[in-house]
Amino acid sequence: MARTFDPATRDALLARVRFYRELGMTEFYRRPVDPALLAQFAGHESNLGAPEPAPSLSKGLDSETWDATSQPPLQEESNIPPRKSITVPPEVGSVIPAAERAASLQLIRDDIGDCTRCALHKGRDKIVFGDGSPTSRLMFVGEGPGADEDASGIPFVGKAGQLLNNMIAAMGLKREEVYIANVVKCRPPGNRTPEPEEGNTCSQFLFRQIDVIRPQVIVGLGATAATYLLGQRQPLAGLRGRVHAFRGSQLIITYHPAYLLRDPRQKKEAWADLQIAMRELGLKPPGKD
Ligand code: SF4
Repeated sequence: MARTFDPATRDALLARVRFYRELGMTEFYRRPVDPALLAQFAGHESNLGAPEPAPSLSKGLDSETWDATSQPPLQEESNIPPRKSITVPPEVGSVIPAAERAASLQLIRDDIGDCTRCALHKGRDKIVFGDGSPTSRLMFVGEGPGADEDASGIPFVGKAGQLLNNMIAAMGLKREEVYIANVVKCRPPGNRTPEPEEGNTCSQFLFRQIDVIRPQVIVGLGATAATYLLGQRQPLAGLRGRVHAFRGSQLIITYHPAYLLRDPRQKKEAWADLQIAMRELGLKPPGKD
C-alpha cells in the first residue's frame, strides 16, 4: 500500500536521496522486510521522529581532508539489521614466507576466476580483489566495491577512497604501503549491504588473503567488515576503541569512510581508533618524532 509522509519527513527523505546521488549512488535496493522485525519495531514506531536531513555535498567534500581535531561528539553508525547467522571464520592457514606472498595472492585471484559463486556476479563489471603491499603490517577491510571500484577493479578509489587515502596519510603511511580489500569482491546492486549468503561466500577469499599477508594490524571499516571479521553481529559502538584478536592479527574496528563523508563529526572518533592501530604498529603521526 502506498504510504504518505508528512512534509518534514518527505523533505528529509528527499535530502537523503539527493545526498546518496551526489555520492554516486543512483540505484536503490529495497530488501524484503522480515515480518519478525516489523513486529519488533511496531511497538516503537510512535517514538520515531523524522530523520535528520543529510549534510550537503559541499559540506561532505570540504570534509574530505583529514582534519579530525575539531569535531563534535560521537553518533553511532547505524547497525545492519539482524538476519541470518554469520559463518565462523575458517581455521588459520600456515605462514607464507614474505617473498612468496604476491604469488600466493595471485593463486587466490586465479581461484576466484570469473566467479559466479554468489548472486553478486550478475551485476558486476570487474572483480575487485585487493590493492597494496602483500607484505604490509597493516590491512584495511571494507564492505564491498562501489561504482568507481566496479569500473576500475581497484578498491577504494571513489570519494570514500580519497578519504581513506587521507586517513592513511595521517598515519604517516602511503597507500601503497598498506593492503586494502573488501568483504565482497563484486559490487552489490545499488551499493546495498551484502546479503549473508554473499558475504559468507566471498569472505572466505578475504580470509585467505589475510592468511597470506599476515598483517600485524587489521582495521575493519564499518559494520559489515566488523560482522564478517568477527563472525557475529554487534553494535559498532561496542566494538570500537579496543583491540580484538583475529587470525593472529590485532583487529581494530572503526567507521567506514563513506559514513565519515556522511557525518564528518565522527572523524574524531575514527582518528582515535586509528591511533590505537598506530600504537600497536609503533607509528607516530607525521611531524611528531
Ligand atoms: Fe564470487 Fe565474491 Fe563476486 Fe560473489 S562477490 S561472485 S563470491 S567474487
